[in-house]
Amino acid sequence: MATNNQITKVLNSLGQFPECPSCGVRMRFGDQECPRCGDDMYDDLWAWAEALIDDITAQDA
Ligand SMILES: [Zn+2]
Repeated sequence: MATNNQITKVLNSLGQFPECPSCGVRMRFGDQECPRCGDDMYDDLWAWAEALIDDITAQDA
């Protein structure tokens, strides 16, 4: 069951959702390509999710 601390971390991480490294456009949730320049964001999204999960599971596991 999710703790308040875990939920807070998820909500905070949404504010750090990746930007396009090519043109700086902020990604919308669910996009895997930049809506402006079409750059593939999959690797950046992967890294974001990985860091988030590491953070969540580090202290509350
Ligand atoms: Zn872009």
